[in-house]
Amino acid sequence: MSRYLKENYQALEEYTPGEQPKDTEYIKLNTNESPFPPANEVLNVLKRQDIENLRLYSDPTMSVLKAKLANLYGVKSENIYLSNGSDDILNFAFMAYGHKGAVFPEITYGFYSVFAELHQIEYEAIPLQDDFTVNYKDYLSKNKLIVIANPNAPTGNARPLREIEEIIKSNPDSVVLIDEAYVDFGGESAYPLCEKYDNLLVVRTFSKSRCMAGARLGYAIASKGIISDLEKIKYSTNPYNINRLTATLGEATVDAEDYYKEKCQEIIKVREYTKEKLESLGFEVLPSKANFLFARHKSYDGEKLYLELKARHILVRHFSTDKIKDFNRITIGTKEQMDKMLLALCEILKGENQ
Ligand code: PMP
Repeated sequence: MSRYLKENYQALEEYTPGEQPKDTEYIKLNTNESPFPPANEVLNVLKRQDIENLRLYSDPTMSVLKAKLANLYGVKSENIYLSNGSDDILNFAFMAYGHKGAVFPEITYGFYSVFAELHQIEYEAIPLQDDFTVNYKDYLSKNKLIVIANPNAPTGNARPLREIEEIIKSNPDSVVLIDEAYVDFGGESAYPLCEKYDNLLVVRTFSKSRCMAGARLGYAIASKGIISDLEKIKYSTNPYNINRLTATLGEATVDAEDYYKEKCQEIIKVREYTKEKLESLGFEVLPSKANFLFARHKSYDGEKLYLELKARHILVRHFSTDKIKDFNRITIGTKEQMDKMLLALCEILKGENQ
């Protein structure tokens, strides 16, 4: 840190992304990426012309991609916002709507508290219930920025739409942000409620179910008012925040919706298979509607398990936060990858019993 840094950033504790090691080949089950490549239509869409056109700025209105997404969800283009990954939208939302304070679960996506600190927002982190689920009643009538990941991360638990609606309804004077990064793996989306509630901001990403984490593309669905707030901040920071290549890839991705739906079904099937196998090995596995499982073993230390798997070139995510330190978050890969992981777990657990 230099001595020039503004004082209120000096104590900022940054978000720590999952490891992206370059040293060895790992079975990478630590950052909730898709094990599948983008659809063929996406792989083949870039032409030499697209590369040559990189000398030109991208379209700051993103009108083509917005229209495609609007058509897919049956909303208007004015209800769609696009960004360089959904983290950017979360950041803007804290910046724009956090002035009365923010509320989110204590165990959730670790970036929320970082954004709150970044923008010097006072926040309340509400503990989960004993079964690691969000109690929606804790979020009623707060009239502060409410942020709920649904499904939640890293637990994978999803709340039904009627509970989400109660939260939105009871906080009419503040924005309720529902982070749906993982909704395509079995959750219930809140976006149809955007028509009814102008305080609802639904945030989504192409990083997980649309197999494009590296392209950085996120989007929001909300009332016209909220979308124009986000646009205002975008035009005050970086109007060209989506590059030309990503926009082109994004358009082809929306056109290939059937491929992605099929891949989500495959992930769900492998998730349920893996859950059952883990349980038979003595793990407690939280019910998940996401592309990952959160599991702890009845007798094996969480961090030790993460390290043993890593030594076998399998990466999962371990969090050292006290309440969840017994758990590991395991991204769902292909069936072959999960079988290798399960085999490694058998070995590790057997070693312990000898
Ligand atoms: N929300 C949640 C709950 C996440 O787990 C992630 C991925 N780390 C994001 C948002 C951000 O995803 P991206 O910026 O890749 O769209």
